[in-house]
Order: sequence, then structure tokens, then C-alpha cells
Amino acid sequence: MVLLEAKSRVGGCASAFPVKGFRFLAGATTLIGLEPDMPLGRVLAELEISFDAPVAQKNISVWQHGAPLTLTRDAAANHEVLTRHHGADFARFWAESAQLGARGWGLITELHFPPRGPGDLLGAAGNAKAWGMLPALLRTTASKLAGAGAITDDARTLLDELLLVSTQARAAHTPYLFGALGMEYLQRPLYLARGGLSSLLEHLADQFVARGGTLKLDTALTGYARGATGFHVDTPSGGFDAQHLVLNLTHWDAQRLASPELAPVFAGTIKRHPDAWATCTQYLGIEDVFGPDAAPYHQVLLEQPLPVSGGHSVFVTLSRPDDRSMAPAGFRAVTMSCHAPARDWEGLSDAEHADRKAKVSEELLGALAVAFPAVQGASKPVVMPGTPKTWEGFTGRKGGRVGGLAFDYATLRRGYPTGRTGVAGLVRVGDTVFPGQSVPACAWGARRVISELR
Ligand SMILES: Cc1cc2nc3c(=O)[nH]c(=O)nc-3n(C[C@H](O)[C@H](O)[C@H](O)COP(=O)(O)OP(=O)(O)OC[C@H]3O[C@@H](n4cnc5c(N)ncnc54)[C@H](O)[C@@H]3O)c2cc1C
Repeated sequence: MVLLEAKSRVGGCASAFPVKGFRFLAGATTLIGLEPDMPLGRVLAELEISFDAPVAQKNISVWQHGAPLTLTRDAAANHEVLTRHHGADFARFWAESAQLGARGWGLITELHFPPRGPGDLLGAAGNAKAWGMLPALLRTTASKLAGAGAITDDARTLLDELLLVSTQARAAHTPYLFGALGMEYLQRPLYLARGGLSSLLEHLADQFVARGGTLKLDTALTGYARGATGFHVDTPSGGFDAQHLVLNLTHWDAQRLASPELAPVFAGTIKRHPDAWATCTQYLGIEDVFGPDAAPYHQVLLEQPLPVSGGHSVFVTLSRPDDRSMAPAGFRAVTMSCHAPARDWEGLSDAEHADRKAKVSEELLGALAVAFPAVQGASKPVVMPGTPKTWEGFTGRKGGRVGGLAFDYATLRRGYPTGRTGVAGLVRVGDTVFPGQSVPACAWGARRVISELR
């Protein structure tokens, strides 16, 4: 088995890179679901791979109007804090949603969705849990919230921005069941691995090699076609034949690299799913002005959307204060990101792009200062912004579309891609394949796609 990786390190959106003695997480930072009954935990158990990491004491602080609301694994404490900030009705809505979300995680590992045929449909029809959750799939999160009582605008904004991170869509477009999963994950154990989430991906790559796989770093797939034994694969260092081809590519990029004969198999998916979110990011190697008690994750909600970056909120991850693999003593490695419309970054000249990139840096630093004013005067050996163009170069994804597909009604109606291409032996995995975005979702999606290949 051969794994081609275009870059010098594995992980893509969930990789890490070194700069000036710091280690930065490129994009993905929150790791959930290592428990054996969760999708990622189950995949790891099936592969007999163990990965231990301490669990965060505080999960996330959400900053609104400059004040933090901190969520933890303790549902009762969350209820109290949500009541204090947003009233009893919103806290009740949250608690009910989190309970539904917890039941929903169980269902993901029990059912085959999307169904492969009548057998899977019958299985779902006979599952009492699935029937019980159907109403939550058929209504939006916003409609459920509307019936929850006295809900403030601030509570609605909070929910919208939290859901955007987990479902890639706001409450008005997110089916309630998925919204509930997105709320529940914020009070799950969050694992703070040494070296960050990327160390899991690096561990998986090591395991792949230890078990006889061939990992070819710095080796991009530059094209593929039907071949003598299945497929012919091209790389800059030569071509080879493969019986099966698993493309960890978005539908846009799978089409771009396909031979003229195979390219049309992606046309339908591209037509149905023409866009995805991009991101603006910033990496800071910064003096530790956060203090030992700060939560590892922060989401800063802004009064106005950022004019250039486009986000209404910024997600911030602080490296563990004791993790010397990520930052020298007295410093932190910080990853910040916000959702950005990919189309805003297309067709820019180099000068326009450089100008916008500098503004992204200022905007994201300003957003962090809303929560931690001391960052303005802090020593910052590294300040490194990233734009959708940066991400295009980094991941090879068209337009830097790293947001997977929104988990909204529009995507479901058009049919979430399953990874099947209609060509025997040729499949796709990754976050534009059901169940989509996040490391656990990609792991679960890949498990499903590969089981169909056998
Ligand atoms: C800013 C941001 C924050 C996120 N936060 C979280 C989070 O906190 N928690 C979480 O679980 N998820 C998070 N995610 C989502 C998560 O990172 C992704 O869903 C997941 O990592 C996507 O994996 P993938 O394999 O589909 O694609 P990618 O990560 O894009 O990986 C594709 C890999 O293929 C390689 N490649 C591309 N083209 C070629 C080619 N032609 N030849 C060879 N190799 C190639 C790339 O270099 C890359 O290594 C975040 C994503 C972003 C962008």
C-alpha cells in the first residue's frame, strides 16, 4: 500500500509546522472522541492503535462583548453559566440539545448513512433510536430555538457562531440534530495531546509505515487514468500502476487531476456542491500573557464582521503552557482562524493579495486583543497570517476551500457525496465526503468508504 503526500509532512489541514522554535497547528486543533464508543475511538480500536492524551479542565471560553463564558465537561456547571449569561430558557434549550446530541453520536456508529441500499434502509427503519431522532432531522436548529422561550439576540448570535465552527452553517440552515451534535461536542472531553492534535496524525503515519505501508512524502499525485491493473498514477518522480485508488481530494481537485476519460465522473458532484468555506488564519509565537488558567480554546465574537477576513468570530487555540514541543518557556504557540468566503480571494493581483494579507494579520490580532488586551504589547517572535491563497498552496485545494461541505439542508437535499465515484476501485475520502469536516468525521468517512472497496 502506497500513500502519496505532496508535502514534507502528513496531516494537511490537521498538520503542524515549525517556525523559529515554535510548532504551529495549521488548522485543526480540537480533538474529541477518543472514547471507544465514539467514531474516532472505534476506528482507532479497530486498527489496534492507542493514543493517549490528557483531557482539558476547561473546554472553551466564548467571548461576547469582551466577557468570557466558559464551558467545561460539567453539564450542570454549563447550565448554571448559560443561565447567568443568557437566561433560563436558553440554558434549558442547550441542556436538552446536548442530551439529544449525546444520543446522536451513538446513532452515527450504529447506522450506515447514507444507506447503500434496501438493507441499510430496513436497518434504519427498524432502529427505534433513529425514528426517535427523525423529527430533529426535519426541523432547523433555529426553529427549535424559536420555540424555546425568551431567547436574547446575544444567545442567537452565540449559537450561530458556535455552529459555524462545528456544522459550517448557522442555526437557520442547520438541521436540529446536527446542531445538537455541535452543541454537545463542546461539553465532551477535549484531548490536549502533547504537540497538539497533529501528533495524532503523525502517530497514524508512523503506524502505517510500521505495518508495512510505504509513505512517500514530497510526492504529489499529478494525474491519474485507467491503467493495466486498474489505474495508472503519475508523480513528478515517475508513474506506477495501482489496483485501487483512494483519492483524499475534494471533488474539484479529483476532477482537476483526472484523465479526460475519468474527469466527467466528478461533474455531477461539482454541479451539486459548487462552493465551500475558505479560511483566514494567523499563527503567533507570543509571550504568555494568557495566564495558567486560560482555557485552551477561545472563540471571540465580534460586534462587526472583520472587513477583510470576513469572519464574525475568531477561533483561537493556545498551546498547553507546559508543552515545550510547541513553544519555549514563557511563550505560547497560538493558532487563530475565521471563516472566509473563498470567492472574495479569487482573481487578486499579487499586490492586492499582499495588501489584504497584511490587513488579515491586523484584524486577527485586534480580535485576540478583545479577549486579551495584553497581546498588543506582548513580545511576538512569530506573526504569520494565512489567507485562502496560502491554504491553496498548502493543501492543494482549489481556492483554499478547506471548509468541507456545510452540514445544512441545502447540502443534504443535493445529496452529501458518499465517496463513491461510479468507477470500480476508484473512491474518494476526506471532508467533502460524508460525514464531512473534522478529523473524527474524516476517519469515520474513510472507514465507511474503504469497507465498500473490499
Ligand atoms: C482552520 C481550520 C480549523 C479546523 N479545526 C478543526 C478542529 O478543531 N478539529 C477537527 O477535528 N477538525 C478541524 N478542522 C477540519 C479538519 O482539519 C479537516 O476536516 C480534516 O483535517 C480534513 O482532512 P482531509 O484529509 O479531508 O483533507 P486535507 O487535510 O486537505 O488533507 C489532504 C492531504 O492530501 C495532500 N494532498 C493534496 N493534494 C495532493 C496531491 N495531488 N498529491 C498528494 N498529496 C496531496 C495534502 O497535502 C494533505 O496532506 C479544521 C479545518 C480548518 C481549515
